[in-house]
Amino acid sequence: MDSSKAIGFSTDIKYLKGVGSKRAELYHKLGIDTVSALLHFYPREYEDWSRTVSIAEAPFDEKCCIKAIVGHDAAEYRIRKGMTLYKTSVTDGQSVMNITIFNNKYAAARLKTGEEFLFFGKVGGTFLRREMNSPLIAKAVSGEKIRPIYRQTEGISSTLTEKLMTQAVSCIKETMYDFLPEYIREKYELLPYGEALKKIHFPSSFEDVEKARKRLVFNELFTLQLGMIRLKGRNRQQTSCNIKKDYTDEFFSLLPFSPTGAQKRAVEDAVRDMFLSVPMSRLVQGDVGSGKTAVAAAVIYTAAKNSLQSSMMAPTEILARQHYKSLTDFFKGTDVKCGLLTGSMTKKEKDEVKAKLESGEIQVVVGTHALIQSNVKFKNLGLVITDEQHRFGVEQRSALAEKGKNPHTLVMSATPIPRTLALIIYGDLDISILDELPPGRQPVETYCVQGKLHKRVYNFIKKQLDEGRQAYAVCPLVEEGDTDLISAEEYAHKLSEGEFRDYTVGLIHGKMKPAQKDEVMEAFASGKIQLLVATTVIEVGVDVPNAAVMVIENAERFGLSQLHQLRGRIGRGKHKSTCILISDAQNPDTKERLKVMCQTCDGFKIADEDLRLRGPGDFFGSRQHGLPGLKLASTLTDTSFLAITRDAAQETWKWDPLLEKPEHSGIKKAVDALFKSAGENIFN
Ligand code: ADP
Ligand code: MG
Repeated sequence: MDSSKAIGFSTDIKYLKGVGSKRAELYHKLGIDTVSALLHFYPREYEDWSRTVSIAEAPFDEKCCIKAIVGHDAAEYRIRKGMTLYKTSVTDGQSVMNITIFNNKYAAARLKTGEEFLFFGKVGGTFLRREMNSPLIAKAVSGEKIRPIYRQTEGISSTLTEKLMTQAVSCIKETMYDFLPEYIREKYELLPYGEALKKIHFPSSFEDVEKARKRLVFNELFTLQLGMIRLKGRNRQQTSCNIKKDYTDEFFSLLPFSPTGAQKRAVEDAVRDMFLSVPMSRLVQGDVGSGKTAVAAAVIYTAAKNSLQSSMMAPTEILARQHYKSLTDFFKGTDVKCGLLTGSMTKKEKDEVKAKLESGEIQVVVGTHALIQSNVKFKNLGLVITDEQHRFGVEQRSALAEKGKNPHTLVMSATPIPRTLALIIYGDLDISILDELPPGRQPVETYCVQGKLHKRVYNFIKKQLDEGRQAYAVCPLVEEGDTDLISAEEYAHKLSEGEFRDYTVGLIHGKMKPAQKDEVMEAFASGKIQLLVATTVIEVGVDVPNAAVMVIENAERFGLSQLHQLRGRIGRGKHKSTCILISDAQNPDTKERLKVMCQTCDGFKIADEDLRLRGPGDFFGSRQHGLPGLKLASTLTDTSFLAITRDAAQETWKWDPLLEKPEHSGIKKAVDALFKSAGENIFN
């Protein structure tokens, strides 16, 4: 393609200068394919190169920008093979500072004697001998600006993205279409869309950044909230599933433990909802191990005693069976009967359960999405529960609900989302939070170690196994195109033939048949397997209290929230538990992520860190959560803004609920697009 051809929003980024098909591929992995998508890849932070400090006043160990003249051409020192240092000194006219550059001949050669540059980095050394190692360097004058810093991945540096962005913003014309009508922009003092896009990437002041952010966050929250208002309105019809009596105390007396205060509150919330003639629509959110299953069981019990059937859907076969077992245990000796329905059961077994459901002989069915199938019928379905709900699309939830006459719905999620954000994300649900763990739990001690310590890690595990505990070994997350990493089978083989040949080693992974998986889980739960090699299939829900050790290989490959879920499989019993993250990652961001794991077991804190480190775009990436994606809006800073956008959305909605007025056509499109990305069709 002729490179002089004008680029537009829909241009494929491979036609930008500096991008070939190889780099384009890397950007595609980040979800960026067009210029427009690139423009919506916002900086994660900024570096202020516009304000410089003198060498004497530079703070220690804090990034700053120093403008100085090069004293002499850099001298080269070959330290050892593959390591060359370049040293020079620079002056700002008053003091001198030494500069060291590692292995970068090109950067060193740029520093010509007598020329002025900006040096960005941390100042070290002593007061008399100040120094800066591997600074970022830019020409003085032209470099004195606020620079955007983008998320980096292998092969894509922030500087590269910055270069491409200068080309991308050049296609923003002043006449660019703005989907927000002028009356809204004026009322809320918002920049035009195009201007905001330009300024978020290339602000001339931090005031610019704030203004641009305000406009772009408004876009996200406003469209999200409009969609949520629409969803909420759609769900609130009358129901005849209201209950007459609360049986919670009776249920609690059946439990082998006393419920926590948080569990009591959540059950109370849900039961109160069920007395009403509008269906319950509630989210129970609780960190791993907070005891969500008992909450569900309590609500199911009261429903059953009020002659309402319940159905509980879990995302995996393993979990469905586990819940089935918990519920049957809880309800032992009562007249509440449960059934199980999963894809791997024989037709005969399934038919039997289905018949009992239709006749009302059983009051509770637990299952996988096999429950959604049209031939599953209920006598009187009054309560629908979905576990680990981010695994299900909103549509699956409603397909299940359609089997009853506006039944109550309860969704349970272990993804700890800060409350403010939960309020918008689950705008159509009421929320109960389990913010208290059952007593006696000890936080899981977590360490991050390098691969060379494998031997010691294995010895530690053996010692634990000898003491009667069990352990998980989570094998590396294999990505497409990986060649250097071994598969789960090979890894299990290596351990069972080698280090752990005197122990029983089992293997569970996603490609196994459900019945096989069950067999393995049974064997692990009953203690027959001592060391379970697993992939992330064990990530959600699995509960084996005697498992007290977990080692995670190539921990850098997992997201923080995912690590937290994995780690949640241990520390569930009375034994002190240990989690060992093995990683040789050198990337500072990655190291920081793993450090967070070692510092806290609090899911909410980890979620916040995850948000901060990866950006909310990833955290709420619709692919993972089935929820609309937010790029910029985050709980950390935008709480006050939530109220403003909610008002704006409500105002627009009152005036034009279906967004049919011509001035709202752009908004309608935006709301539509946002929710379609999460698999939800909002205007029909
Ligand atoms: P999650 O919220 O992760 O789904 P579970 O429902 O699987 O947690 O519960 C974790 C474990 O804690 C289970 O073994 C369960 O029996 C136990 N448990 C739940 N509530 C309590 C409680 N109040 N006291 C003691 N143990 C409890
Ligand atoms: Mg659970």
